[in-house]
Amino acid sequence: MPYHREALILELEEHARRLRVDVLDMVHRAQSGHPGGSLSAADILAALYFHHLNIDPLQPNWAERDRFILSKGHAAPALYAALARRGYFEAAELATLRQIDSRLQGHPDRLKTPGVDMNAGALGHGLPVGVGLALAAKMAGQSWRTYVLLGDGETQAGVIWEGALFANKLHLDNLTAILDLNDVQLDGRCHDIMPMEPVVDKWRAFGWAVLETDGHNMARVCDALDEAQHIHDRPTIIVAHTVKGKGVSYMEGQSKWHGRPPTDQEYATALQELGEGARND
Ligand SMILES: [Mg+2]
Repeated sequence: MPYHREALILELEEHARRLRVDVLDMVHRAQSGHPGGSLSAADILAALYFHHLNIDPLQPNWAERDRFILSKGHAAPALYAALARRGYFEAAELATLRQIDSRLQGHPDRLKTPGVDMNAGALGHGLPVGVGLALAAKMAGQSWRTYVLLGDGETQAGVIWEGALFANKLHLDNLTAILDLNDVQLDGRCHDIMPMEPVVDKWRAFGWAVLETDGHNMARVCDALDEAQHIHDRPTIIVAHTVKGKGVSYMEGQSKWHGRPPTDQEYATALQELGEGARND
């Protein structure tokens, strides 16, 4: 890897680590929220917000910005951390997650939080809305791109596949979906609740270009995001193999950490594992 590329990857890995610490801080303080899916998506969000997305935190509504939809809206803590660390608002505000009158609601609200492009939390809707945004850009002759981060559990919803059909029909090569494929959903393993394999073959059959990557290997995540921009005449999905709760040993692969906050002792262990040491705040 050339030196500048290596430095970039190291920088993005540190951003991802920081996002994970922020997620733990927020969910622990609120004693409410969704750590598992937030940690699963931290590397992907770091790659997007600190390198790939063409955005301007000083102009959250800039008309030609790339759009990002967190369709798995329960991973809002990770999105808020990325927005704060990218400069949309002060990091101190992260401590207000899920509090009355906070701009940082339990699920993303585009009217409350600077940088949020779509309300989400009712699962399955991010892809169809992303299709509409990508079509709007084409109709306006504009070059901004639309990115949609999908949970694997939510792809069990039929509306996802209606969106997939439409994106194929319209040849939306300005649309990149990313599938956070951790095989865990709210209360169990996806493959037990509703088997979706063969995932890659399904998306290919729907006319999409499919790229596969390790969703925690920063260099490979960046390569896939780069490659997706150069695929023409069809939409692309990056199938990112991930681990729910990634980075905190006792949360990894466990559905019980979908929507449960850590105790003080669990929080301390998590911070230590993320290289933060002990803290008293
Ligand atoms: Mg999942």
